[in-house]
Amino acid sequence: MSILAVLELTHNAQWHRMSWETLAAAQQLSTALGEPLEAAVVGKGIGALAAEAATRKLAKVWAVEHDLLEPYTADGYTAALEQVIRKIQPSLVLFPHTYQVRDFAPKLATRFSQVLVSDVIAARSENGALTLVRQFFQGKLNGDVRVTGPGPAFASLQAGAWRADGLESGSAPVESFAPALDAAQIRQKPEAPFREAARAVDLTAAEIIVSVGRGIKEQSNIAVVEDLARAFGAEMAASRPICDAGWLPMERQVGSSGQTVAPKIYVAVGISGAIQHLVGMKGAKTIVAINKDPHAPIFEVADYGIVGDLFEIVPALAEAVRKAKG
Ligand SMILES: Cc1cc2nc3c(=O)[nH]c(=O)nc-3n(C[C@H](O)[C@H](O)[C@H](O)COP(=O)(O)OP(=O)(O)OC[C@H]3O[C@@H](n4cnc5c(N)ncnc54)[C@H](O)[C@@H]3O)c2cc1C
Repeated sequence: MSILAVLELTHNAQWHRMSWETLAAAQQLSTALGEPLEAAVVGKGIGALAAEAATRKLAKVWAVEHDLLEPYTADGYTAALEQVIRKIQPSLVLFPHTYQVRDFAPKLATRFSQVLVSDVIAARSENGALTLVRQFFQGKLNGDVRVTGPGPAFASLQAGAWRADGLESGSAPVESFAPALDAAQIRQKPEAPFREAARAVDLTAAEIIVSVGRGIKEQSNIAVVEDLARAFGAEMAASRPICDAGWLPMERQVGSSGQTVAPKIYVAVGISGAIQHLVGMKGAKTIVAINKDPHAPIFEVADYGIVGDLFEIVPALAEAVRKAKG
């Protein structure tokens, strides 16, 4: 029995950053469950990337190559990975919870009469039995999913739930695997990949970020928070509802479907702290939260919490920052 981590590449053959988080999680589970770890890299012309993956601590890297695996299709990936899994018979298959994985992994799991346990935030082993934790009702409840039966079990891991910097190095052999694929099996006809508009701001490089949430109530009130950002010399960011409403551009959204940031200071103004927001900013060195609800989940990750009305606190704080800077 082994654990198989399926690593993901972007469409321009770069590593998807969540691949390393998945591999770090898989390394920890491999130790906890006492099962060897293997990884699969899927695509065309992926030899160098498979060799790079093999510099991490694992037992083997499978280079799953075929002309029909480029570009990505759900049918191609499902057929190829089904063959790999039947060959190596892992007890657990782990994926990053990316849009691509959401596209094909449920179908792949079904080929084995299994379900995909999706968006997993934690995993633990008790006496060699595995429990996966996932959230319900937008993060309000955590549920335990106990893995039973002969497997393989399939799980995708939430962005930011495991840290890639915990990844251990090593040296593993690379084995090529050429799946039997036929063009007639592949029903999707991919178009050119979606291209995001060029990013005018790189929030990932910002040292101080002031971020605004729905507590701001109206678009015209955003100026109050912008003034605090100016006082700090900070970049503005926002929670998703603010960007969905078009009050700030999408590129300023922080969270699981926005940017992941790690500034020195992150000031969250009128943001409740939903898990999808937290995964994008919990790596900040110092978190300051301003919220009128003392029970808001953002206070669980905050280093400094100010409970009160942002419309009183933010102008006073901007004033104090200006004074302190002289
Ligand atoms: C698939 C998916 C992906 C998602 N991706 C993201 C993402 O990338 N980023 C993201 O942010 N969200 C994301 N979300 C949405 C997320 O679940 C939350 O709905 C969102 O983060 C809530 O935004 P908020 O905190 O601004 O608003 P709310 O949850 O409404 O919180 C507003 C807060 O403001 C406080 N408040 C109100 N008035 C005042 C006042 N006068 N003074 C001080 N405080 C006040 C309230 O107490 C409350 O805590 C995603 C959701 C899904 C399902």
